[in-house]
Amino acid sequence: MDRFSRQIPLIGSQGQASLARARVGIVGVGALGSAALELLARAGVGFLRIIDRDLVDLSNLQRQHLFTLEDLGKPKATAAAQRIQTLSPETEVDPRTQDLNPETVEDLLSDLDFIVDGTDNLETRFLINDYAVKTGTPWVYGGAIRREGIVMPIVPGEGPCLRCLLPKPPSQTESCWAVGVTPMITTVVAALQAEWVFDAITEARKPSGFLYALDLATWAIHKVRVQRNPNCPTCVHHDFEYLEGRAFRYAEVLCGQDTAQILPPRRGLRLDFQKIRKQLGNRVQLKEMGGILKIRDGVVEITLFRDGRALIKAPGITVERARALYAQYIGL
Ligand SMILES: [Zn+2]
Repeated sequence: MDRFSRQIPLIGSQGQASLARARVGIVGVGALGSAALELLARAGVGFLRIIDRDLVDLSNLQRQHLFTLEDLGKPKATAAAQRIQTLSPETEVDPRTQDLNPETVEDLLSDLDFIVDGTDNLETRFLINDYAVKTGTPWVYGGAIRREGIVMPIVPGEGPCLRCLLPKPPSQTESCWAVGVTPMITTVVAALQAEWVFDAITEARKPSGFLYALDLATWAIHKVRVQRNPNCPTCVHHDFEYLEGRAFRYAEVLCGQDTAQILPPRRGLRLDFQKIRKQLGNRVQLKEMGGILKIRDGVVEITLFRDGRALIKAPGITVERARALYAQYIGL
């Protein structure tokens, strides 16, 4: 019996052949990315590029597909790729343990038909959006926190882009590290993302101009129309500030100090320390003094300034790790 016999009645052998020819990139193989990756590999997508800068951690196993206890400490991209190969040796997988940023974006995303968002921060999503709009690459935005999720497919040139929905990054966002997330909501969101890519490949139909907002706490699912913003900085004015590195958060490791400095994603930011303190709660040590907030969690020490600048101290800190820690504790 053919591996794909259960879906061929729905998509035909032509649809299956289209899947085999398709090239899809997954940016971030956390909860959303790992689930979407598994679904797309099982469905028969021929080429999958797996992009992730992080290592597998015990707290990932609660919701991230593909990983097992044996993968702890391994790069997520290669661990996920190995697992995909064991279930489908015919799939071409291309694991990249790299940070997606203005320097690497061309190399990582240039030869793909679709991009799936599995990231955990808006800055990287705005970068993907800039790249996708500039090159006309369809992508699907997804996010999940607590039991709430959001999915929005983006087809440049046809429907609205992410910046039509969010012209500016919010001054603060919550992180799932702080407020929690269930494996059910992340898997539902990832399945919707994968479904959209699957439909686009097999039916050459790319519906856009809407988002789904879900709340599993109340079982509510809303399909909301999203209009193109006539003043959108990205898809109307073609101001690719993230792609060109002007708005992208700048990070550098300070010489010989196990400390990295991160500059804020935009000027004129005024962080609400009270809100951050509330969000982080009693899970970390907090100390506010003279316009700075010190956050200490084990070996990680973050000194946060009101304008969003941060000094992040941790043994063997790298630029990528500093960006990941900033996204985890402070969000944005
Ligand atoms: Zn737009």
